Amino acid sequence: MGKTRKIGLLTQILIAFVAAILAGMVFGPSIDIVQPFGDLFLRLIKFIIVPLIVTSLIVGVASTGSMETLGRIGGKTILYYLGTTFIAVSIGLIAGLLFTPGAGVTISSAGEVPEATETGGVINVLLNIIPTNPLESLSSGNILQIIFFSIFIGVGITMVGKKAEPVYHFFDGFAEIMYKITWLIMKLIPIGVFGLLAPIIGNYGLSVLLPLIKLVSVVAIACIVHALVTYSIAVKTLGKMNPLKFFKGIAPASLVAFSTQSSSGTLPVTIKCTEDSLGVSKKISSFVLPLGATINMDGTSLYLSVAALFTAQAYGVQLSIGQMLMILLIATLGSIGAAGVPGAGLVMLTMLLTTLNLPLETIALIAGVDRFMDMFRTAVNVTGDASASVVVNASENENLESGLETA
Ligand code: ASP
Repeated sequence: MGKTRKIGLLTQILIAFVAAILAGMVFGPSIDIVQPFGDLFLRLIKFIIVPLIVTSLIVGVASTGSMETLGRIGGKTILYYLGTTFIAVSIGLIAGLLFTPGAGVTISSAGEVPEATETGGVINVLLNIIPTNPLESLSSGNILQIIFFSIFIGVGITMVGKKAEPVYHFFDGFAEIMYKITWLIMKLIPIGVFGLLAPIIGNYGLSVLLPLIKLVSVVAIACIVHALVTYSIAVKTLGKMNPLKFFKGIAPASLVAFSTQSSSGTLPVTIKCTEDSLGVSKKISSFVLPLGATINMDGTSLYLSVAALFTAQAYGVQLSIGQMLMILLIATLGSIGAAGVPGAGLVMLTMLLTTLNLPLETIALIAGVDRFMDMFRTAVNVTGDASASVVVNASENENLESGLETA
């Protein structure tokens, strides 16, 4: 029954997708009239994000059972996330240097060639993860701070044990409610896809995108290479799973991510796919996936490095090795800090360019085609999270078999 519903939704998304492209091409900018449907969908996604992350992370952390298990699962997860993000940024940098997407772009720069600088802001970015007032973080939607204190509450529940059980059950029930609400909103994906995509095609057309097609292609191809190569190897060697089985099982979530451009919005589908089709245990998925949906964004980090190189190339700025390393660091941090919502990467790009003292005018240019890159990077973000859950799950099973797990 669940299967037929899944296929139904996917087909609907596909139809909405094609219809949006056709409608955009036929009606041009006047198709803007459907934009409110897209906005409606985006608002619905945004409205669930904070409670969804808070509840699922608290439950995910607390349901690991003991501090020892939590430390082990948490350590493996973070290591995997950092490792794959590093590979993604490197692939982005190599692709950006190899294909020079910004080389032919002519931007009327008013001043002389800008000089990229290095920054001392990293410590502040890191310190800022610790909230001084968690309620303020909640109301302003500061995702990194929210993650920080949700993890701590989960850790606290684990340490306190029996007395904290009512709190655990409260958040467990709350998380289930949030999954249900999300599931309801997901039914509106086709309407959202149409409302978001048609105006983009209507306003920019396919031809206006031409000069930027190289940028979009480089990001898209690099994303596909990263997904196919990195995740196949990881899933096969570390996760002991046939990559074909993996990609087939996670395809519905990747497609939903592609269409909605939201890792957080896709989270319930990701959880369902990894548990039902990939056999990941609930204990692992409820910790690894909510955390990944917000902090692990391989596609975004890859996009950030390509877009930074694009900007430098468009302005003829020569980047030093030090500045490349800076891109590597900031793109990694930026992808960790980006929320799992559409366009979050573009916001982070502004931060990255400002940090490197590169001109921001390219943002307007990139913004026109950002959606297309967002589709690829979000699909990669979600697929990467799922691969982590498979890898961590396999290594926990090994622990179980070798009797390491006693609880
Ligand atoms: N849309 C992406 C996501 O939800 C974030 C980004 O804009 O890169 O994963």
